[in-house]
Amino acid sequence: MQDVIVVGAGPAGNNAALSLASQGYGVTVIDSRENIGDKLCTGLVGEECFRRYPIDPAHVYGEISAAKVFAPSSDVVRFETPHPVARVVNRVAYVSSFADRARDAGAEYTLGRRVARVEQRKDRVSVVTDDGVSEARALVLAAGFGSQLNRQLGLGEASDYVVGVQALVETDGVDEVEVYLGRHVAPGFFAWLVPTKPGFALAGLLVRKNAPERFAEFVAARRLDGKIVGTVSKPVCWGIPLRPLRKTYAERVMVVGDAAGQVKPTTGGGIFYSLMASEIASGALDQALRDDDLTANRLRSYQKDWKDLLSNELEVGYSARRAFEFLGDSHISSLVSQAGKNGFPAELANSPDVSFDWHSSMIGKIMGHPTLGGVLRLVNPLLARMARTPASANAFSAEVAVAEPVSHV
Ligand SMILES: Cc1cc2nc3c(=O)[nH]c(=O)nc-3n(C[C@H](O)[C@H](O)[C@H](O)COP(=O)(O)OP(=O)(O)OC[C@H]3O[C@@H](n4cnc5c(N)ncnc54)[C@H](O)[C@@H]3O)c2cc1C
Repeated sequence: MQDVIVVGAGPAGNNAALSLASQGYGVTVIDSRENIGDKLCTGLVGEECFRRYPIDPAHVYGEISAAKVFAPSSDVVRFETPHPVARVVNRVAYVSSFADRARDAGAEYTLGRRVARVEQRKDRVSVVTDDGVSEARALVLAAGFGSQLNRQLGLGEASDYVVGVQALVETDGVDEVEVYLGRHVAPGFFAWLVPTKPGFALAGLLVRKNAPERFAEFVAARRLDGKIVGTVSKPVCWGIPLRPLRKTYAERVMVVGDAAGQVKPTTGGGIFYSLMASEIASGALDQALRDDDLTANRLRSYQKDWKDLLSNELEVGYSARRAFEFLGDSHISSLVSQAGKNGFPAELANSPDVSFDWHSSMIGKIMGHPTLGGVLRLVNPLLARMARTPASANAFSAEVAVAEPVSHV
């Protein structure tokens, strides 16, 4: 019997395996994929993430210090920061690098095996695949978005999510990140072209409904612009949770990453939060394994610790996300044009508390900005509260959630 079985070899599962195996625990990682890390993703990681969890520079496509934002009015505003804020990485190489180190530390990998069922027993967990049963003292569930294992364990599912769709495309003249806004492109969300290798980009969008149709329209429009000159890969859709699970632990079980909903609700980015949360989970599990106390009550400390780190970001980010979904095209265009004026992007970029991965402070600054905040408050007076402290933004988030029932795809 192993000490820990990790289900899922994404960023969350591999990093949990790495931390636990490095501390001497016997760890087996099971993933239904053969190719580690090959899951739909754009591979944008912020500088803080990159500093904390670096990879071989050969797997970095480029640094990001500028982006062009296309407003619904067709105005284009270019935002530039004095230093890079993020990098575009080869996602498969990045995620595999954690697995390689976990293997070096002694973790075993079973690939191409889907976990169908998990059974919690008094002294162990049994993990059932089509191939047989594996057993361990504890389980880290890192199976990503929409795992039926969450439900099976009585932990429910994310109460809100969005669908992402993306393909690799051949491009002409796309050498910076491009973001497209507006109801005709991606209502309530955004579309993107993110350059990777010269002459190629990842084209994608997030949307609540009709993702494939919206994506086809986006690609057709970029073909007309002459930016997309050939579709290389078949578009793929996958979900992104926008809210965390209420409970991320159970008897002998911890849930991490997308499976737990540890994702920035503003952009849908989840790599950094998954990596940090998996480290917190491993720390809590280490203590619990040493004391041989793997009760739900004991594992509760994991939830407290990750929430201390992330819950303000998730709450404020979700409020901002829902607020953005209220905006019409004219408001979005006005916001984009105002945001590009009077040195506001540089002011944001130079604020020590604003970064690619921590958005609550930036949201507070936008809401407190005389023109930007004014536009938003005109749209919905409830938004005025977001100009106040994060604590009041938390209260606001509950109101928005009640006032606006979420529509699913
Ligand atoms: C279109 C799109 C673009 C994105 N772009 C970015 C980005 O640029 N930057 C960013 O930070 N985030 C991005 N994300 C989000 C990011 O990909 C996720 O937050 C991140 O991968 C979560 O990691 P994870 O380890 O929790 O889950 P995953 O990476 O989803 O890994 C879960 C693993 O579990 C395996 N698995 C699932 N069920 C089972 C089972 N029953 N048995 C065995 N194995 C199983 C899967 O095969 C998978 O390998 C994007 C998401 C989408 C959809």
